[in-house]
Amino acid sequence: MKKTKLNELKDKCLNCCKCELGKTRNNIVFADGNPDTAKAILIGEAPGENEDKTGIPFVGRAGKLLNEFLENAGISRENDLYIINTVKCRPPQNRVPSDKEKELCSEYLLKQIEIVDPKIIIFCGATALKSFYPKKTPISKIRGEVLDLKVGNNTEIRKCIPIFHPSYLLRYHSLEEGSPRDLMLKDLKKIKLLMNN
Ligand code: SF4
Repeated sequence: MKKTKLNELKDKCLNCCKCELGKTRNNIVFADGNPDTAKAILIGEAPGENEDKTGIPFVGRAGKLLNEFLENAGISRENDLYIINTVKCRPPQNRVPSDKEKELCSEYLLKQIEIVDPKIIIFCGATALKSFYPKKTPISKIRGEVLDLKVGNNTEIRKCIPIFHPSYLLRYHSLEEGSPRDLMLKDLKKIKLLMNN
């Protein structure tokens, strides 16, 4: 049922040219994961070069690093998550999507949240956080916190957790206590616990 509704939405999205990003994309990057079993939706920023080539989110270097962290935290990318981005088309030169682009594309994202209806939403990186969290708190200050927010077309309050974007972690290799990679693993383990509660 969820898959049927999502496939209908994807069909609509495949022809979308509502914003400028539709002119330069090679592929719509709609989602990855199993909507029937996902306990959380993970929202990233935007497709990059590899995602634009394949039509799958988080498949480049950052995506591979995310996979490693998920595995270490005991989270199954295939079964526990439904992965999307704030926009479905790649911004040229991997720039940050504009507010207007995000707003125009939110029709699809909000519908995806409504259909999948997860108990947890993960804001992966500052762009996803800013799209839904009204305060201008830097991600470094708020990551790992559980925020009770209304996200999506219905009024249900969901547990929303900001985490670092894996592309940020590519710059830091230390696993020392308190390092970005250490904090990322701790945040994902916390999310895993929330998934099981
Ligand atoms: S980014 Fe979203 S709104 Fe813009 S063209 Fe792609 S699907 Fe349409």
